[in-house]
Amino acid sequence: MYIVTVDADKCEGCGECADSCPGGVLEMVDGKSTVANPDECLGCETCVSVCPTGAVTLQEQ
Ligand code: SF4
Ligand code: SF4
Repeated sequence: MYIVTVDADKCEGCGECADSCPGGVLEMVDGKSTVANPDECLGCETCVSVCPTGAVTLQEQ
């Protein structure tokens, strides 16, 4: 399974990761990306690629 994490201190709230995630894993809450549905992560790395600040990290477990 894949573990996606968002560093809230680095997130600038652009929403790109939430908009591009095919699994609906990430949602914007109070202007920050939040891991709302962690079990739906497909490991595609799109969120990592689109984030302009390096706030998103993906690990495989
Ligand atoms: S790796 Fe893909 S499926 Fe998982 S949170 Fe990122 S964009 Fe969504
Ligand atoms: S792409 Fe990066 S900066 Fe933009 S909302 Fe997602 S985590 Fe935050």
